[in-house]
Amino acid sequence: MLRCLIKDFETRPSVTHLLEHPFIKQAHGKDSTLRQQLSSLIKEQQEHGCRRRTRHERINTRKTLIIESSPDDDLVNLEALDEETIISHLQRRYGDLQIYTYVGDILIALNPFQSLSIYTQQFSKLYHGVKRSENPPHIFATADAAYQSMVTFSKDQCIIISGESGAGKTESAHLIVQHLTFLGKANNRTLREKILQVNPLLEAFGNACTAINDNSSRFGKYLEMRFTPTGAVMGAKISEYLLEKSRVIKQAAGEKNFHIFYYIYAGLYHQEKLVKYGLPDKTPPRYIDSQNGKVMQDIVSSKLYKEQFDAIQDCFRIIGFTEEEVNSVYRILSAILNTGNIEFTSITSQHQTDKSEVPNTQALDNSADLLSIGSEELQEALTSHCVVTRGETIIRNNTVDKAIDVRDAMSKALYGRLFSWIVNRINALLQPDTNICAADSGMNVGILDIFGFENFKKNSFEQLCINIANEQIQFYFNQHIFALEQMEYQSEGVDASLVEYEDNRPILDMFLQKPMGLLSLLDEESRFPQATDQTLVDKFEDNLRCKYFWRPKRVELTFGIQHYAGKVLYNVHGFLEKNRDTLPADIVVVLRTSENKLLQQLFSSPLTKIGGTRTLNLTLKHPNRTLNLTLKHPNSPNVDTMEMMRHPEETTNMRRQTVSSYFRYSLMDLLSKMVVGQPHFVRCIKPNDDRQALRFCKERVVLQLRYTGILETVNIRRLGYSHRILFEEFVSRYYYLAFRAHQMPESSKENSKVILEKAKLENWSVGKTKVFLKYYHVEQLNLMLREV
Ligand code: ATP
Ligand code: MG
Repeated sequence: MLRCLIKDFETRPSVTHLLEHPFIKQAHGKDSTLRQQLSSLIKEQQEHGCRRRTRHERINTRKTLIIESSPDDDLVNLEALDEETIISHLQRRYGDLQIYTYVGDILIALNPFQSLSIYTQQFSKLYHGVKRSENPPHIFATADAAYQSMVTFSKDQCIIISGESGAGKTESAHLIVQHLTFLGKANNRTLREKILQVNPLLEAFGNACTAINDNSSRFGKYLEMRFTPTGAVMGAKISEYLLEKSRVIKQAAGEKNFHIFYYIYAGLYHQEKLVKYGLPDKTPPRYIDSQNGKVMQDIVSSKLYKEQFDAIQDCFRIIGFTEEEVNSVYRILSAILNTGNIEFTSITSQHQTDKSEVPNTQALDNSADLLSIGSEELQEALTSHCVVTRGETIIRNNTVDKAIDVRDAMSKALYGRLFSWIVNRINALLQPDTNICAADSGMNVGILDIFGFENFKKNSFEQLCINIANEQIQFYFNQHIFALEQMEYQSEGVDASLVEYEDNRPILDMFLQKPMGLLSLLDEESRFPQATDQTLVDKFEDNLRCKYFWRPKRVELTFGIQHYAGKVLYNVHGFLEKNRDTLPADIVVVLRTSENKLLQQLFSSPLTKIGGTRTLNLTLKHPNRTLNLTLKHPNSPNVDTMEMMRHPEETTNMRRQTVSSYFRYSLMDLLSKMVVGQPHFVRCIKPNDDRQALRFCKERVVLQLRYTGILETVNIRRLGYSHRILFEEFVSRYYYLAFRAHQMPESSKENSKVILEKAKLENWSVGKTKVFLKYYHVEQLNLMLREV
């Protein structure tokens, strides 16, 4: 930061100019060492003399100069609110490297596709507890608003980050965690360090390179940071949603497996430990060789992968994993790579159906050894299966195709469970410290970062789930920003113009309704052993009669969906198998014999715990109707059943859990977490598809602004009242502003008005039971409270 200021100094080499710089003026009061550092840097600079700056430096200079706030920062302040004005405004700001813009209390973040120097601790200090209008828009300001709101009102908060794949959600989530750890500084430095390692560790296991994004999240993550009532960070908890396990066994052209596989391969190669983990050092394992051998050279020669491996080792250590645990993780990952290399050949016998066997047992032996199970038992479980008929157990052979399916199912299950175990372990290690404060007396800020909307050339079951999840988040946004707000104006008799918006509820219904929604139909078809891709797509066509679904002519096994974010064509090939996601009991039995403690844990979840029904009642209000959504899920929220829900792939004699029913449960679980907190929205926008810095592609941005309803949001934020507070709550919160501390006035409309008038606010309104405030009023009131 300071260096960049110095570059600014190069163009206008006057010390006075630099010391008058707004950043220095603002930061000076808060950081006395700053001026000292600056003086020595100026001296250093003067000694080196001025030289011509490169283009890169000029950009850097601009980066730091823009730290003054202006009315331009908020789209709500624009005079004209048409699409063209908004887009030109955002384009101009982006050109000035002002990637953040407000729409009232919502933050728009344009991906800069280059690193900016605006996330240092100086910036954290700058955005700490000050009025939002004092600084330009920033992701730290959103984190700060959530934190201040949590501390002031003792209420849980939730930051919802949305945007399509590659728009910058995960980066934003990091920055929010960074700022929250800064704000919640406990005496416990180790805890802060631990929390900061969580994201990089999870990304290594849950992110991968896709056609759109080199670091694409392949799982959804809700990170809850827990604070004491005074705002000191005391722990964290992660909930993970729907990891794309199928990536372990296969990746689309040009895409890669989860990062961790490349990291361990490069890391272990350099440590000459390949032998210990049974990994081949010449030919790459099949699961990570999507680029036909080229990848091997890349992995071995990539310094970056090696560095990432070292970084991951540090993450494990700092968070508190034991060496034994980390070693077991590497063993399981290596076992998965070896499992992928097991090949089968067919032997035909006279009496039996085609039988498969493993001609070369090297990979099989390695895998069994790493998993601490018997090699023969593993081979048996891969090439045959038990069937129980009329009390008799019969062993049937697996064909080669079936054996391959079992092998891959085992790899997916191992990875999926390992991932869940890592998450659970992190949660245990970051549990709130009850010595600091009783566990139930704290408050949370939750940060939601899910996989973004995807539309590839070929879209499969995974894209469908990802896009339904995004549909749900958009619905939640609409409910908060439009529906609930407008309904309240009407019922409270407050005069405010209604804003038209695109309600995606019908699309969501088409997916989630029972028994005729797309996911239910998929489940139903998955129960028929004779069902095929063709019968599935026919079933969809026969039952989904709405304008959001269509069946393109001349494209086989394909259906189209008109999502809120655009049209997507899905190919149903493999939908049924992916949804069933079966892991034969024979494999589970063998894995349970393992002597490896971690593996025992992964496969020890009791199978008999499904039962009970969890009911979630959500009342979603709409201007014209109120929707009571009662969602029942076969689960009760105890640890064992949660564990069971995480592993839908096991075959049991009981009601089988499909991926789509698990997915439905996950969505509801996520919603139930989100609805308890006060929401803050960050909408990430991707300015171009080529990941180019400073390239603003108008058409792409317009499209994203349209489907996310930004234009309508600007309108409602200008016209509407985003905060609606009951008289009772309002008076008890703010009576200090107009009454004496001991007075405790009655919670009435009149007293609420007295407070508002005394605070000299403008443009508020009062309804029958509530005070209606503009988004900026709350901040003004809170600041006044702090000053009283
Ligand atoms: P997905 O849905 O695929 O997970 P995403 O929205 O999480 O996508 P990110 O991984 O956060 O996208 O961002 C994609 C890339 O954009 C990052 O790897 C980084 O290179 C760049 N990027 C995003 N935000 C920023 C930022 N604030 N500063 C610098 N670079 C950024
Ligand atoms: Mg991401």
